[in-house]
Amino acid sequence: MVNQIAAGEVVERPASVIKELVENSIDAEATRIDIEIDRGGIERMQVTDDGCGIPADELELAVAAHATSKIAEPDDLDGVATMGFRGEALASIASVARVEIRSRTPEATEASIIEAEGDRRDGPRPAAGPIGTCITVHQLFGHVPARRKFLKSEGAETRRINQIVQRLAMSHPDIAFSLRSNGRQTLDLPQREQARRRVLDVMGTELDEQMLDLDVEREGIRVWGFIGRPEVARPTSQHQQFYLNGRPIADRRLSHALREAYRGLIEPSRHPTAVLFLQIDPTRVDVNVHPAKTEVRFRDDRLLHSIIRRSIQACLQEADLTPSLGVMPTAEVHSNPTTRLFGSGSGGQRSMAPDASAGHGVSRSPEPVSNPTGPRGFDMGEARRIAEEIKPLPAAMPRAQALQVHKTFVVTEDANGLVIIDQHALHERVMFEQLLARMADGNLPSQRLLVPEVIEAGDVHLEGLERLGPLLERLGFDATQSGPHSISIHAAPVLLNERRVRIPDFASDLFERAGVGDLSFADEEEALRDVLDMMACKAAIKAGDQLTPQELADLLDMRETVERSSNCPHGRPTTLRLSIEDLERQFGRR
Ligand code: ADP
Ligand code: MG
Repeated sequence: MVNQIAAGEVVERPASVIKELVENSIDAEATRIDIEIDRGGIERMQVTDDGCGIPADELELAVAAHATSKIAEPDDLDGVATMGFRGEALASIASVARVEIRSRTPEATEASIIEAEGDRRDGPRPAAGPIGTCITVHQLFGHVPARRKFLKSEGAETRRINQIVQRLAMSHPDIAFSLRSNGRQTLDLPQREQARRRVLDVMGTELDEQMLDLDVEREGIRVWGFIGRPEVARPTSQHQQFYLNGRPIADRRLSHALREAYRGLIEPSRHPTAVLFLQIDPTRVDVNVHPAKTEVRFRDDRLLHSIIRRSIQACLQEADLTPSLGVMPTAEVHSNPTTRLFGSGSGGQRSMAPDASAGHGVSRSPEPVSNPTGPRGFDMGEARRIAEEIKPLPAAMPRAQALQVHKTFVVTEDANGLVIIDQHALHERVMFEQLLARMADGNLPSQRLLVPEVIEAGDVHLEGLERLGPLLERLGFDATQSGPHSISIHAAPVLLNERRVRIPDFASDLFERAGVGDLSFADEEEALRDVLDMMACKAAIKAGDQLTPQELADLLDMRETVERSSNCPHGRPTTLRLSIEDLERQFGRR
């Protein structure tokens, strides 16, 4: 009975059996693990390894409840270094299925077999077999029809098994893995020296250029792994894996940290692609809080959150994130779901090298390209001279030509090629970063209104006013309730005035969104960034606005000074690039 109850926690479905068996093989220091399943594992599962084996006289113990060879005394529980330690898995599995274990240690001259099903034990008896362990599980839940009913279709169970094997394989590149389903090989992973190779084996080698390397160590916590460029973000979090000391874990705080790091780089409905390995002294975590060990407890989870968020942010900032417009020859377009419309990221270097474009043979004619001889739409040369007098150029590269197209896009060049900018998205991005930077120094500059603006306020607005509380002052607002259904605004951020944003409309929106809980108040900084998003969006140049030469010049200058300008705060790209190589290829120059 006790074992069956324990089995309810450990053995939920075939994939949980596979997970326990494979983890045992990893603990046994196997170099190769072969997995076979029939009919989604419900009929039969077999895991074979070349690990240390189980001595014949311990076989019976291996299937006994709470018997483990991995913990010798209570203190060992404080620093568990193996995948298993609870000694429950084999006993639990045997209580709900027929289990056969064949094992041989390197010292033994032959293998031994034990069979276990419920309370029944058969063996151990000698048998032929190689060094290592082979465990076969027949008829999962065969005698527990109530549990068997809860299993999903064979296909669904097979997919889950596939997933768990892939997850475990990613954190153990030094072990070869294979998986056969109904006699057909579905996974074959050779031993790899580099974790990166294994991760790509599993996730798809076409992601090679899209995955950035990360490796940071702070305060005894090492975070390393591979994070995807924003354009390989996915609609679900399936391509997000976290490991703690080699063990796959699911943890909401970690996903949150990852999400925060990509804030503004991907759309809110998409999830970053990332494989992250955390290495923390085992005494600083408690892995013994969940029977399947997928949840853990961190001693200092705030610290961990901030280390993860910051190290990913730093890694993203270093990378050149402008997506390339890569005009792909049709032969290269494959149907892989990770292939996005605009192809791969440029993977290139920063575009600031002086005169780097000269070598590409781009003519730097002073005329706008579209109109080489006719009257000029606007005088770029003059604009540049004015801008240069006003302030020094931020980057070494001389400012390139720029052309506004359909009052919506700006076309220019950089060291890598042709650059197309969405004027609203870029301006919004730049303002967001500037606002964020200014907030770090204190409150946003505020301006008293000569006559307070009074807005009509429903319950939702009043609720919002209350929730925003002290945040309002930091943002440069001074607002108070002035009647049962009105709010008076006495001061507003200078920026909104400057950009001719209608204060009453903005304030009304703000209070309403805060009131309905649309802003995330879980953490003050997050809520603040939500409001800055709003401000930047409202204050930014719109699509359809004709830019003066000065505005155009300023916009390009800002692009160079602001980090992460390649995506707007909502995660849409601000800039696309068509590289010189692509152009040359398209025109048959290569
Ligand atoms: P745990 O892994 O928590 O110790 P299990 O019930 O999974 O508990 O396994 C019980 C014991 O059986 C392990 O402690 C180990 O000694 C032995 N064992 C299980 N699988 C293997 C294997 N593949 N190779 C060597 N020993 C194994
Ligand atoms: Mg185990």
